[in-house]
Amino acid sequence: MRKIKIAIVGGGVAGATSAIYLAKLGLDVTIFERESSLVSGPPFCHLHAGGNLYREISDEQCIKLLKQSIDFLKFYPFVVDYRPTVIALPSTDKQSPKQLLLRLKLLTKEYERLIEKDSSNQVLGEPREYFRLYSREDLERLKSKNVPTKPKDSDEWMVAVSQNLDFETVQFPLILVQEYGLNLFRLASGATLILENMKNVTLKRDTEVTNIQREEEGWLVGYNNKQESFDYLINSAGFRTGKIDDMLGVPCKRMVEFKAAYVSHWKSKEQTPFPEIIFHGERGTPQGMGQFTPYPNGYFQLHGMTNSITLYDDGLVVNTSFSCQPKLKKKFIEKIEKSWSQEEIEERTKLAIEHLSRFIPNFSEATVGSKPLFGAQQIPGDDPTLRVAEVSFPTRAYARCEIVKVSSVVDMVKAIKNNLIELEYIENVEENISFSSELLEEQIDSLAQMICRQRDYPSSLGCLNINIS
Ligand SMILES: Cc1cc2nc3c(=O)[nH]c(=O)nc-3n(C[C@H](O)[C@H](O)[C@H](O)COP(=O)(O)OP(=O)(O)OC[C@H]3O[C@@H](n4cnc5c(N)ncnc54)[C@H](O)[C@@H]3O)c2cc1C
Repeated sequence: MRKIKIAIVGGGVAGATSAIYLAKLGLDVTIFERESSLVSGPPFCHLHAGGNLYREISDEQCIKLLKQSIDFLKFYPFVVDYRPTVIALPSTDKQSPKQLLLRLKLLTKEYERLIEKDSSNQVLGEPREYFRLYSREDLERLKSKNVPTKPKDSDEWMVAVSQNLDFETVQFPLILVQEYGLNLFRLASGATLILENMKNVTLKRDTEVTNIQREEEGWLVGYNNKQESFDYLINSAGFRTGKIDDMLGVPCKRMVEFKAAYVSHWKSKEQTPFPEIIFHGERGTPQGMGQFTPYPNGYFQLHGMTNSITLYDDGLVVNTSFSCQPKLKKKFIEKIEKSWSQEEIEERTKLAIEHLSRFIPNFSEATVGSKPLFGAQQIPGDDPTLRVAEVSFPTRAYARCEIVKVSSVVDMVKAIKNNLIELEYIENVEENISFSSELLEEQIDSLAQMICRQRDYPSSLGCLNINIS
């Protein structure tokens, strides 16, 4: 078969993963990325292995997120922070913890089923330990224990929670679930190391694609006053996916949402390992969900799903019949392309600290850790609560990636591979893609920390609380 040439527009997690996967199949791949480094788009810190952060989504979406997260974890083991998540319902919440149990039991069954099908799917621990309940008495018992430096089991993870949570503000039981963290800086590092070493990959950083035209069976891609022919085009341009659709004149329907997470530092807890803690709440109200996401050395990433913290009044936009590109307000584009004002960083980070201090009173002593982690993300269709989406093929030899959660990328690239098989560009080969042995932990770690510094974040954000290796 003729070796086909693939153009990938955008080197975020979708574009970088497509490049790794297709290059491993032996294809000739070129990535165009307008920024100077890969995976520099919106942030991600949750794997979402079961979707337990989203009460409002369907069981089907949660089951799909569980399966996709397991595939993602097997593909990118070095990106995963193996610390669990504690789910708490505030005492003022309309629901009770009992109502969350049905879904958790369903997810446990699904996890068992996936392991029965393929034992290598057992990456979230024993299925019977997928979730555990903690009563107030359990927490009172753990309160007197010493905080372990490296927690080894669920009880050890709960010690820091028992010593810092205000028990009056939450309902019991608390739920500890094997939902892990993701480290975007380690993904940027690992993907860069892999792609820079692949002979059939051309990495064009600082290169914006400005024009694309249909050419016989393929595409003529324009960048930097040059043009180059390709057989197949992958649009993984993130929230700018619509601009590429406009160049091609294909049908579309999508939304784009600007959001931000805040980085805080809690000096007195630099040596205390915490699990992630989620305090559920109604999105868009002052009681919106709070997310307390730990990084090493006392750094915590914070979300507050209110319009004065993570969300913005006018942050969600839709496309029109004239353009596939939803138009974000200038103030958001300026944040993405230039910078934030110091005043707004201070204001929103402090509000985020207050939001979480309602449940963890001593956290009020935390300070601003750095500029926020922020960006705009694409959501295909017209349902803003959609959490699982992969890729569509609106015209021949064109894959349009629109992931909402990063765990969807493995299903996304497999769908692209199937499209290439249908087009008879490649044969159906059973691939077993693994590259962990090619990468040295020290290399990933030092490049991840360097990327943090280059992007003006503390280097601790490039480190894991718990590393499987
Ligand atoms: C605050 C926030 C928190 C989030 N938290 C999570 C989380 O915990 N877990 C999770 O799974 N997801 C999370 N997400 C969603 C996640 O960030 C996105 O789904 C994911 O990053 C999208 O990846 P992508 O590769 O599709 O797009 P991007 O990462 O945006 O990559 C697109 C790339 O294309 C480049 N590009 C665009 N146009 C061109 C062009 N014409 N030429 C060349 N290059 C171009 C851009 O520079 C960019 O690097 C979060 C999003 C936000 C905003």
